[in-house]
Amino acid sequence: MGCIVLFIKSLKLNIKLILFSITITLVLLFSIILFYSFAEDNQTENNSSNKNFIKWVDFNVTSEALKLTSDLDISSHKTDSPIKYNWIELLAYLACQNGGNFKNFKKSDLDKLIDKLESGETILDLTSNMKFYDYYYEAYSAVLSGFIGSYSIEKKNENGEKCFENNYGIKAFLPIARNYNFSHYDDFGNSRSYGFQRTHLGNDLMGSIGTPIIAVESGIIENIGWNQYGGWRIGIRSFDSKRYYYYAHLRKNHPYAPNLEQGMTVKAGDVIGYLGMTGYSTKENVNNINIPHLHFGMQLIFDESQVDSPNEIWIDVYQIVEFLKSNRSEVYMYDSESKDYCRKYDFIDSQQSD
Ligand SMILES: [Zn+2]
Repeated sequence: MGCIVLFIKSLKLNIKLILFSITITLVLLFSIILFYSFAEDNQTENNSSNKNFIKWVDFNVTSEALKLTSDLDISSHKTDSPIKYNWIELLAYLACQNGGNFKNFKKSDLDKLIDKLESGETILDLTSNMKFYDYYYEAYSAVLSGFIGSYSIEKKNENGEKCFENNYGIKAFLPIARNYNFSHYDDFGNSRSYGFQRTHLGNDLMGSIGTPIIAVESGIIENIGWNQYGGWRIGIRSFDSKRYYYYAHLRKNHPYAPNLEQGMTVKAGDVIGYLGMTGYSTKENVNNINIPHLHFGMQLIFDESQVDSPNEIWIDVYQIVEFLKSNRSEVYMYDSESKDYCRKYDFIDSQQSD
């Protein structure tokens, strides 16, 4: 009898032991699965930080080089010229020759290239041994690909009636409306002391409060509202998502053109807001900037991980602003009560109608 009781007791003990072992094994197995799934997540994260995209661009193409190459591009497309020039290809070729530094650019450098192309050589042949051509082509495309192309613009015909004219040419506009004065100098990289030690990542265009501010390129409103540094600001992303245009320090009380909101599409040449002196304050609608000006900036985005990160690429837009002086949007006051302005000549961007 005693023997049987002892046997049952030991059986109970064994069952407990087995259950315990099973639990331990399951916990271990679960931990291993969890560990490997996390490790895999990290792997994908590491892969994305090692992805092959452009991490830095120094843009110093002069307005003269922009003007000369864009003239070649536009005139070759508007005539029946057998060779169609692409200004970005021409600039990328020149950058390979000058190491990406246009400070000493001479028209004769471009003339030599044009001679070669006119004698039958192609950009492909000429650049096949240029190690950095692809880099410059991609970098300059990110900066300039929305600037030249096909568009339609409203005109008045001989009878004074409105009509649309199809054109190929510069379809980006100066950020300051036509007939409004402004001054600027190359202030990119200057130091700024509000908040913490920062460098200036744009170009300040000094003008009168209320000057209508123009969308340089068509795109989608990504940010609109108050920002501690920029005050009333608006950020617009190009349709190809490579460029983020930043317009800051807009006017106190009435910073924006009516009805603008995040996610909306704006057209190149539209009035988006008014020049002011807001910013440098955590409190909204405060004028803490000494001299009324538009802060205009352009950020390049090759990978979404570069947005809102320490790896943001802002380029010097001084030469671009100089270049865009040739294309300004004319505006008129359409509401005398709110004193709001809008563009005089409507515009259809080929990128948008595609
Ligand atoms: Zn600024």
